[in-house]
Amino acid sequence: MKDILKELSGVQKNVSLAPYTTFKIGGKAKYFYEAKSKEDLVKAIKAAKETGLPFFILGGGSNILVSDKGFNGLVIKIQNTKYEIQDMRVVADAGVLLNKLVDESVRVGLTGLEWATGIPGTVGGAVRGNAGAFGVSMADTVKSVEVFNINSGSMNQWSNGSVEFGYRDSIFKRDKDLIIFSVVLELKKGNKEISKRVIKRHLAYRKKRQSLLSSAGSVFENPFDKSAGYLIEQCGLNGKKINKAMIYKEHGNFIVNLGNAKAKDVIKLINLCKKKVREKFRIELKEEIEYLGEF
Ligand SMILES: Cc1cc2nc3c(=O)[nH]c(=O)nc-3n(C[C@H](O)[C@H](O)[C@H](O)COP(=O)(O)OP(=O)(O)OC[C@H]3O[C@@H](n4cnc5c(N)ncnc54)[C@H](O)[C@@H]3O)c2cc1C
Repeated sequence: MKDILKELSGVQKNVSLAPYTTFKIGGKAKYFYEAKSKEDLVKAIKAAKETGLPFFILGGGSNILVSDKGFNGLVIKIQNTKYEIQDMRVVADAGVLLNKLVDESVRVGLTGLEWATGIPGTVGGAVRGNAGAFGVSMADTVKSVEVFNINSGSMNQWSNGSVEFGYRDSIFKRDKDLIIFSVVLELKKGNKEISKRVIKRHLAYRKKRQSLLSSAGSVFENPFDKSAGYLIEQCGLNGKKINKAMIYKEHGNFIVNLGNAKAKDVIKLINLCKKKVREKFRIELKEEIEYLGEF
């Protein structure tokens, strides 16, 4: 078997993943590589395949929980950050921060992304999970997605319709062979002052409900028309602590890291929420966050 250290120049060994996540939790990646261009990405995926290493595509790390044991493979951090605004279209590499696109689109007088203010992470990660807030989601602005198919090695442009967007869902969640390289968003002509006011309102709402402590946002998807946070709160779990992990007092769907929390403590809280909600409401909560590594 080939050696990744020889096949992929710039790859690092034993890199702690916690700083690359908003949870600030988790062990080390055996190998870690920052892909600063599309070419880097293709190179890294090819090297992983040739060396037989499992690999994981990491965006902004704002929707994942990394195992305390880390990941025994190659983490490819998406770091391609070019973008361009052409008339009413935003063409952005997958690694561009979603918030950067919110700010830049408003700056040039476009509207349509204000809802995304305060959502950490990359535009690639947002498309994959069809991130959304205030009744709007990525599906409402995505025109097309440039996709790399690991199996065939081909690169294709996918239209919005073929991405199969659903609630916090897209085809990219179900087909791990598909990697998002870049995204085209279609916005509308807006009014800067109105957009800024909307952003201010959204940020104020987030400030009230979201913790400034490290977290991965909502842990669970909202089941049907119910709010997972409400169900958890009704089970009396808000404020419940296991070591340094805690269910946020003001929002039951957030688990926060009070400092040096372990993934295993977060998992215990997740299982507790599932158990109590199942017992009280007969509803099965499903994680919105994703796991990396062995649990
Ligand atoms: C404080 C806070 C508030 C949040 N608020 C919201 C909210 O209002 N609405 C909402 O929907 N989410 C919210 N989130 C969750 C999170 O920010 C989003 O889900 C975000 O879109 C994840 O993007 P990311 O780049 O961080 O992805 P990551 O966490 O890095 O990765 C998530 C998954 O996407 C995959 N992935 C990443 N990039 C690519 C790519 N280019 N191609 C293929 N797969 C890829 C990864 O492999 C992983 O499986 C919040 C999180 C926090 C911490």
